[in-house]
Amino acid sequence: MAKITKENGKLIVPDELTLPYIEGDGVGVEITNVCKKIVDHTVNTAYNGKRKIDWLEVLGGEKAYNKTNEWLPAKTMDTFKEYLIGIKGPLTTPVGGGIRSLNVALRQELDLFVCLRPVEWFKGVSSPVKEPNKVNMVVFRENTEDIYAGIEWEAGTEEAKKFYKFLHDEMNVKKVRFPETSSFGVKPVSKEGSSRLVRAAIQYAVDNKKPSVTIVHKGNIMKFTEGGFKKWGYEVAEKEFADVTFTMNQYNNIKKEKGAEEADAAYKKAIDSGKIIIKDNIADAFLQNTLLKPEDYSVIATLNLNGDYISDQLAAMVGGIGIAPGANINYNTGHAIFEATHGTAPDIAGKNIVNPCSMLLSFAMLFEYIGWIEVSQKIKNALVESFGKGYATHDLARFMENGTSLSTTDFAENIIKLIK
Ligand code: NAD
Repeated sequence: MAKITKENGKLIVPDELTLPYIEGDGVGVEITNVCKKIVDHTVNTAYNGKRKIDWLEVLGGEKAYNKTNEWLPAKTMDTFKEYLIGIKGPLTTPVGGGIRSLNVALRQELDLFVCLRPVEWFKGVSSPVKEPNKVNMVVFRENTEDIYAGIEWEAGTEEAKKFYKFLHDEMNVKKVRFPETSSFGVKPVSKEGSSRLVRAAIQYAVDNKKPSVTIVHKGNIMKFTEGGFKKWGYEVAEKEFADVTFTMNQYNNIKKEKGAEEADAAYKKAIDSGKIIIKDNIADAFLQNTLLKPEDYSVIATLNLNGDYISDQLAAMVGGIGIAPGANINYNTGHAIFEATHGTAPDIAGKNIVNPCSMLLSFAMLFEYIGWIEVSQKIKNALVESFGKGYATHDLARFMENGTSLSTTDFAENIIKLIK
């Protein structure tokens, strides 16, 4: 059993890598199975047997519940903690009081503060926008704070009344329009939480030679929470990445002190010398701009709620909402869980028609993350070739010109043939 470790800020990855995985419920069984086969074949092709995966199944979701009476056994959590990275199929969210969503539990326990969503178009995949080839972004969504923290009280409860009384009497808040019938939520956004998210996004841009990082926020309205995110984000860039970035904050300061001409010259100099441009955009304008000029954006750093909307809109723009991959990562400890972003699709489970690409591209992300770039590249190349010829599962093939619908297993076999 060979584990990944993190030493001096770097992941140390053994050639025989033990990879913990949760199979997933519903269609999870089908997609995990075919993806494991594709991955084994690709690793073998890439490294001629020098590198290999030892699969380690851990339990989660319905399968765990049926075997152990627990939805997320402690052993599963301990294994992910110990092995640093893992991958999971979709899990049924247990219905009933007092049970946390399994996904939320994993994120919280491992403090996976980045929800990473790459958005990339594959030629051949049908898209609602005219030029999906111009969409190529990576979204860093903050995963632990914001209105998602789950601090809220329902209208009419004692807690809501108490909270309102505190606001009214002690904080002198007189702006609540209908206090008797209001529910309340709290939106914590911290300097630490914002800084570590933006730091990870900029480091990603540095490592992957990306041209810009855009901080997306609603700081015009929520000045201290979303405005704080922007301010702390710029601070991280200017203090910790001064030699490789140029910020629009610096641009505006030069403009104020020395005029637009000098500011433009400094901007041009930064671009010419290969510096990463750190800019910001108000969330609503950003959503418009991504439709009008997506080529202006590369790495996106944003808060939790904005990130939720943005990830789905961008995924839809590349026709990839059903195939979008994802990961939740703590870049400090190295912990990362890669995941299919769709659910368990109970309506098609067991029919051998599910599209395995969300899981497969999550594997591609995993291999990029651990530095086995060749595996990731080969998987993506095979997908490009398959989609280019119109070979896909039914959900995608039906919208393709000359599309041929393949079953899940036939599609996987075809991908295996295309791995070179
Ligand atoms: P869903 O994503 O499972 O399904 C929505 C629709 O998309 C369905 O019609 C389904 O057939 C289709 N679909 C989804 N993935 C597909 C794929 N790979 N190929 C082809 N078609 C696909 O969402 P839902 O129905 O709202 O949720 C079902 C269950 O999954 C619920 O228990 C929910 O809580 C859970 N869920 C889990 C995750 C996760 O584990 N990450 C995410 C979302 C939902």
